[in-house]
Amino acid sequence: MINVTQPFLPPKEEYDKYVEGIWKRNWLTNNGPLVNELEIQLKKYFGQKHLLFLTNGTVAIQIAIRALGLKGKIITTPFSYVATTSSIVWEHCEPLFVDIDQHTLNIDADKIEEAITDDVSGILATHCFGNSCDINAIEKIASKHKLKVIYDAAHCFGTVYKGKSIFAYGDVSTTSFHATKLFHTIEGGAVFTQNADLLKRMAYMRNFGHDGPEKFNGVGINGKNSEFHAAMGLVNLKYVGEIIQRRKEQSLFYDEMLQNLKVQKPVIQQGCDFNYAYYPVIFESEEIALKMKAELEKRNISPRRYFYPSLSSLDYVSTPSPPISDDIAKRILCLPLYHDLSREEQLMIVRILLRTQNY
Ligand SMILES: *Cc1c(COP(=O)(O)O)cnc(C)c1O
Repeated sequence: MINVTQPFLPPKEEYDKYVEGIWKRNWLTNNGPLVNELEIQLKKYFGQKHLLFLTNGTVAIQIAIRALGLKGKIITTPFSYVATTSSIVWEHCEPLFVDIDQHTLNIDADKIEEAITDDVSGILATHCFGNSCDINAIEKIASKHKLKVIYDAAHCFGTVYKGKSIFAYGDVSTTSFHATKLFHTIEGGAVFTQNADLLKRMAYMRNFGHDGPEKFNGVGINGKNSEFHAAMGLVNLKYVGEIIQRRKEQSLFYDEMLQNLKVQKPVIQQGCDFNYAYYPVIFESEEIALKMKAELEKRNISPRRYFYPSLSSLDYVSTPSPPISDDIAKRILCLPLYHDLSREEQLMIVRILLRTQNY
């Protein structure tokens, strides 16, 4: 079985060593020493001053929306994982979809301004597949119209934009450390911000609003993560450079072997140093994409229709469907890409795709 992705598991002894420490301290969660250590190491890794390690990437988005006080409508992309849109609705806001750029697959900055109305309070954009949005254009529009910007950077571990970690951008950047992501803590996520007061507000929110044992500072939720999750992160952090390098080699190998496959691939945004998190290909039609998927599945290979359907088709949203996102969602497949995927397996995938095309 070759899945679209497979979680990275480090040598078990290295994880066990951390677990021994947890047993000694009997401190399992609530801002323990390993959570602290992971936060320090991640801040160093990304060169960022402010970060909170959270329970997952979805709660990260929800806390960001709350902390920024977003209300009414939020401009967002229809081409992302469902959590981007569902978090908006969960926070009692309304998603206002702006279509994507057909080359980068990210929200089309040129179409944002015409969508802005008085009841729009912010922009929530995803850096899809680890490729950055047109950050410069988005920041300009946001500052002109006094809108807050959240980036869903769930795919972006290791992506750099104009010399800085991509997490440095936006009023808040969120990410996910879920097991399927390039770097993971089993379940987990984080928020980043440049604003110390905003970080403080989000820190209260992460811990029920607790301000000491008997005092509360505003409404909060349980967004904490545990020592066990932090331990997995601390071990995986040692391997993440190797993981990204491997993804890059595998991606370049696909590029080389699939030159004759009639597909479109996302164009990397100018200024973006990409992390090779995913390998998406866009076929000429939905029919071809589905045929390719079926042929791969016959041999126990599972590509995924990331992201299908376009989020504007969710039954709890009500805005017109942006046509480019709709169209690309139907034709795209992400090919298997993970640490242990071998050259032989990649070649098998390549052969099936090319053979199916030539039928
Ligand atoms: C994975 C993902 C999320 C959700 O992260 P979780 O940690 O699974 O809650 C949000 N947005 C995008 C784009 C994702 O890929």
